[in-house]
Amino acid sequence: AKALGGGQIQRYSEELNQALQRKLTLENQLRHAIGRGELYLNYQPKTDLRSGGVAGLEVLVRWKHPEHGSISPAEFIPIAEESGLVVPIGEWILRTAVAQRRAWSDAGVPDVPVAVNLSGKQFLGTDVVALVGAVLRESGLPPRLLELELTESISMDDPVRTADLMRQLRELGTTLSIDDFGTGYSSLSYLKRLPVDKLKVDRSFVLDVHQSAESLAMVKAIIAMAHTLRLEVIAEGVENDGQLAALRSAGCDQIQGDYFSKPLDADACAEYLRKHGA
Ligand code: C2E
Ligand code: CA
Ligand code: CA
Ligand code: CA
Repeated sequence: AKALGGGQIQRYSEELNQALQRKLTLENQLRHAIGRGELYLNYQPKTDLRSGGVAGLEVLVRWKHPEHGSISPAEFIPIAEESGLVVPIGEWILRTAVAQRRAWSDAGVPDVPVAVNLSGKQFLGTDVVALVGAVLRESGLPPRLLELELTESISMDDPVRTADLMRQLRELGTTLSIDDFGTGYSSLSYLKRLPVDKLKVDRSFVLDVHQSAESLAMVKAIIAMAHTLRLEVIAEGVENDGQLAALRSAGCDQIQGDYFSKPLDADACAEYLRKHGA
């Protein structure tokens, strides 16, 4: 390798230092974000391709930072995971989403389930079954209105415990999805042993599903396999007509993405549900 000049080395270490600084600063500020009311939730509709109506909502957390403006969960959830802050933050998200769904039901907003993302730490490192059970009991929300999304990679970290926890969550009456499906390497026999209801095809397959024979073949194979196991399939990140048509022809059950609706704040979401809800 070519030797780096002194100036270049200094520049690299400055950049590294800045990235590390930002991360440390964000971590400290994240510690106070709930208490200061800086976190809030968005809801993105999932559309049923057969009926054309809304089949559910995914809850997506947002951080309104006092100086940096809106910070993406893609940046702060990994920081929260690493520091363990994802546990209290995840609990706040679950409670807030369930309370919102309950309030909507009381106000006559169509009864479609809300799906909450569970992080790896939250799922494998805390008593998630006790938490979900308590939140459902305290809120009085019918458990069928709560769906839980778990990434494929988490489920593969500890397959035996994962299956056991999923079974317990399902006994509470919630629905379970495997998120970002296709990015891990789970096998058919592995999937068969997991008590799940739905697969969520990762956006990376959706991106060029209308332009690439290989992506379309992958998606078709996932859908065929899922349907054999009697699982529903939802595709995420759908933005255009071409993707929609390809996914429809592949037999996909549900669609989520900016094509139908971007993530909405609670008021806009209630309005959307009143217009398009079941
Ligand atoms: P994810 O679970 O795969 O969520 C889907 C992401 O795709 C969301 O990004 C959503 O806003 C985005 N998206 C949806 N439709 C489209 C589209 O048509 N085009 C494009 N380009 N993007 C689309 P977001 O909200 O930035 O969240 C990023 C990730 O952060 C999520 O990926 C999830 O892994 C994590 N996350 C978000 N909210 C939570 C949460 O409440 N708890 C946990 N543990 N993780 C969360
Ligand atoms: Ca998700
Ligand atoms: Ca996803
Ligand atoms: Ca994804």
